[in-house]
Amino acid sequence: MSQLTANDLKEKLKKKLITEKGVEVSTASNKDIYYALASIVNDEIMPKWYETIKRYQDKNLKQVYYLSMEFLIGRLLESNLLNSGLLNIAKEALEDLGFCSELVFAEERDAGLGNGGLGRLAACFLDSLASLYYPGHGFGIRYRYGLFEQRIIHGNQVELPDYWLKEPYPWETRKEEEAFVIQFHGKVHMFKRNDGSLEFKYENTDKVLAVPYDIPVLGYQNEVVNTLRLWSAEPVAYQEAGQEENSEFYHDLDHQHSIEQISGFLYPDDSNYEGKELRLKQQYFLVSSSIQNIIRSFKKNYRLPISRLPEKVVIQINDTHPSLAVPELMRILMDEERLDWDTAWEITTHVLAYTNHTTLSEALETWPEEMIQNLLPRIYMIIDEINERFCKSIWFDHKELRDKIPDLAVIACGRVHMARLAIVGSFSVNGVARIHTEILKKQEMKDFYTLFPNKFNNKTNGITHRRWLLQVNPKLSNVISEAIGTQWIKRPKQLISLLKYSNDKALLEKFDQVKHENKKILANYIHQQTGILVDDQSIFDVQIKRLHEYKRQLLNIFHVIYLYNELKANPNQDVTPRTFIFGAKAAPSYHLAKEIIKLINTVASIVNYDKDINGKLKVIFLENYNVSLAEKIIPAADISEQISTASKEASGTGNMKMMMNGAVTLGTMDGANIEIYDLVGENNIFIFGLNADEVLDYYQNGGYNARDIYNTDDRVRLILDQLNQGEFGIHNIEFKDIFYNILYHNDPYFVLKDFEPYLEAHELAERAYRNRTTWMNMSVTNIAYSGKFSSDQTIREYATDIWKIKQMD
Ligand SMILES: *Cc1c(COP(=O)(O)O)cnc(C)c1O
Repeated sequence: MSQLTANDLKEKLKKKLITEKGVEVSTASNKDIYYALASIVNDEIMPKWYETIKRYQDKNLKQVYYLSMEFLIGRLLESNLLNSGLLNIAKEALEDLGFCSELVFAEERDAGLGNGGLGRLAACFLDSLASLYYPGHGFGIRYRYGLFEQRIIHGNQVELPDYWLKEPYPWETRKEEEAFVIQFHGKVHMFKRNDGSLEFKYENTDKVLAVPYDIPVLGYQNEVVNTLRLWSAEPVAYQEAGQEENSEFYHDLDHQHSIEQISGFLYPDDSNYEGKELRLKQQYFLVSSSIQNIIRSFKKNYRLPISRLPEKVVIQINDTHPSLAVPELMRILMDEERLDWDTAWEITTHVLAYTNHTTLSEALETWPEEMIQNLLPRIYMIIDEINERFCKSIWFDHKELRDKIPDLAVIACGRVHMARLAIVGSFSVNGVARIHTEILKKQEMKDFYTLFPNKFNNKTNGITHRRWLLQVNPKLSNVISEAIGTQWIKRPKQLISLLKYSNDKALLEKFDQVKHENKKILANYIHQQTGILVDDQSIFDVQIKRLHEYKRQLLNIFHVIYLYNELKANPNQDVTPRTFIFGAKAAPSYHLAKEIIKLINTVASIVNYDKDINGKLKVIFLENYNVSLAEKIIPAADISEQISTASKEASGTGNMKMMMNGAVTLGTMDGANIEIYDLVGENNIFIFGLNADEVLDYYQNGGYNARDIYNTDDRVRLILDQLNQGEFGIHNIEFKDIFYNILYHNDPYFVLKDFEPYLEAHELAERAYRNRTTWMNMSVTNIAYSGKFSSDQTIREYATDIWKIKQMD
């Protein structure tokens, strides 16, 4: 841990400002301070980084590599300060120099290199790996444009490009000398060597250089610095690419541009598959550079025969996006390391492990055969061979599954099925919450489970309590530490000791005070962002996540409309004031999701200015939901809306973040909500609606008719008619598409079916909230059990069950 004092830090800051910027403290901007402070932190990090790499090498430890198309890391200055043990003195130093630390931290652009939960999980995992002394590193893509920036204009989502690299990014180091060449297109020629083995030569390939940019990943006050390596696509030097020196300038520029496109932008689809060739290029670009890198490090560091790769290397593939790792590893082992098929296959299937993140059919990745054949001819040959051998093995060894071959084959009906490729080529397949893994085993991947029962296992997601409690909610962290000491910071499960105090009125009051202070801060932010005043004594009811039909923001806003209609009919109702807070980005091509955003904003524009409502109801849509905004909202949440259609949300992690900050979950029996329920018990959570079996039964056997509910429930009919007839809307805005989706597509996500139970859950929650002691008892109980969802726990399970890696001592 760093020995610096606040005074040392002030002196260092002054010196940095002068030597690097030529400014004095008195004239420095927040940005100057940000860069100076980042530079000081880097000075602390660099020697530890070097030491960590050396120690791993000396100890010959097995390494895990986490391959992911997304890393949603957010801002790093504050978390790097926290993990280096400098956060408190940095805050002190900044205040002393007349700066506001929050404003300084806010100078950093979010690294938005992910869409949502999947990318944020990867970021939390890196934090836990380093904090637990595990040799584990991330590989991803350095997109020049991250996830789009969202603006709301006249209620509509508008997307702006996120050029986050416009200004220098202080955490990255370019490592040009460690670049690799990636090859696309071209022809493959096969030769027989003298020993009878086959040699593959590529001709006329398009070569792309993958240049690594390394970002340090700091463990919590433990001297460990692991690496997140992000690849950037660049043209290969002419000589290397075998091109003519004097090709045309404009042709070159065009060529350069098309290469740089590969790491140009992040595809903005969450839980949705987009079959664009550029996306496939991105996937192979990530996989090929990372696997080449892993093999080179293995050979350099361990000096073992390549056949012993599985003893020292394990690769986790985050969803199917990097599943070309299977044929790419085979290619390198056979074509470059000259192993035969069986040996290469034995190694590959002992190195790769696959995490499944969803059972939504629209998310299932399949690529047209010709696209892979044309873009990656050698990789296609290998996939084809994997498929042949796999299908044969079913035919001969699993006769009972013969007629299932079309549903199991890696290549079927002209398409390559990436999940099937990942399952066949990995030694481990895991789901991300208990119910999700069960659904994989019993339904989605039933036949694969019959074939490979030992591959399947569950690893419930987690979140790093360092960022999501210690950093974002210092006040709550202090109250916790005053009550139970500070051991929970290293051992988050010790939060359970809070249970001893869940009836201690004085302490509950302190928790209440902290929550109220956090709500005041958020209320200020809301006012500053939207001009709307919200009552900080009202219930802060929060739904923040990507906008998706299955997440059912629509159910939430229907409930708001219902409350509004009730208040209009009876303005003197005695109700607890409520503030409904939304944050959500929709994929730019997802029409219905954008309509729902527009509906939420339209409802907000009516409710918030209606004098009859008298401030009892407010609706706030905060634009551009990202990690930094989540960090502002979560500490202030009273109610955590986790209301997905049961069976659809694989796990969720937003649910865990809010629980850890004392919000009470109002949700369905879905994903990790079920595990929250099991821990806190029915008295400390509000559960409603269909369960997964009921939903799956309706999907399989029918029996649900949305129109029946429309016809019989006056409250529902009123809302839908208001949408359809433009009554509910200034300027007569209509929401016919939503109306039609519910009534003519039979409400595919059971919004109407769950409407009544949802209202009842809200009524219970409102009543519970009125009794401060009851409520705070619920809140503290949730915090107490939340240690179970620290990603430290999750990572320990991955490490022992799947990766078989050891902590560095
Ligand atoms: C945690 C997080 C998510 C995931 O939220 P869910 O509610 O689990 O879908 C998405 N986006 C951001 C920015 C997050 O921090």
